Amino acid sequence: MKKVFILLMLSVGFIFVFAKKNYLNRSFKFTMTKSVNCKNCEINFNERNSIHILATKKSSLHSPIKKEIGIRKFLKNKSLIQLKEGQGYIIDKMPYSYPYLTAKTISFIDELGMEFKTACELSHLPCRPFIITSALRTKETANKLKQINSNAKTESTHLYGCTFDIAWSRFGHGNNPDQEMLDILIPCLKNMQNKRKCRIKFERNQACFHITALQ
Ligand SMILES: [Zn+2]
Repeated sequence: MKKVFILLMLSVGFIFVFAKKNYLNRSFKFTMTKSVNCKNCEINFNERNSIHILATKKSSLHSPIKKEIGIRKFLKNKSLIQLKEGQGYIIDKMPYSYPYLTAKTISFIDELGMEFKTACELSHLPCRPFIITSALRTKETANKLKQINSNAKTESTHLYGCTFDIAWSRFGHGNNPDQEMLDILIPCLKNMQNKRKCRIKFERNQACFHITALQ
């Protein structure tokens, strides 16, 4: 009877250890597939804030807007245009910025979006659009952001309507990580940078590419 009991306990122990190992393996695999790797992004996209600031000097929006109400005037005189979803890209909710940019910046995004979409087609992959997570900030929203984000302490180039952010850790309407889409987006960005159409800084902690379109 004692032997049967010991055998029973050993079996229960074995099943428990086996099940736990399997569960951990599955969790690990889940974590691995959920994370994406932005290969060499720190090296390839390392243009610092002062370079972005210089690039904003030619913006049609010459000085920062204080509050949201001030945006209207610049929409009227066409210094700013509303950013809407386009080919190859979608717009995120923007709690600390507004979806308005200069006409040249929107043309730049359209060109990047088309290049990205074409690259997806050439790779025979269904295109999951990249996500624009931030665009124009007013002094008011920039100050609010400074309170929660230490990276926002420096002068924000988002105040001039030619800087925006693209998420690298998620794509499409499902907001999912996608290594294949990221691997397609990286050379498209590099190509635009090589053509001297923009400045790009990879932001690991903000999970975005901080991009200033040259005007
Ligand atoms: Zn940014």
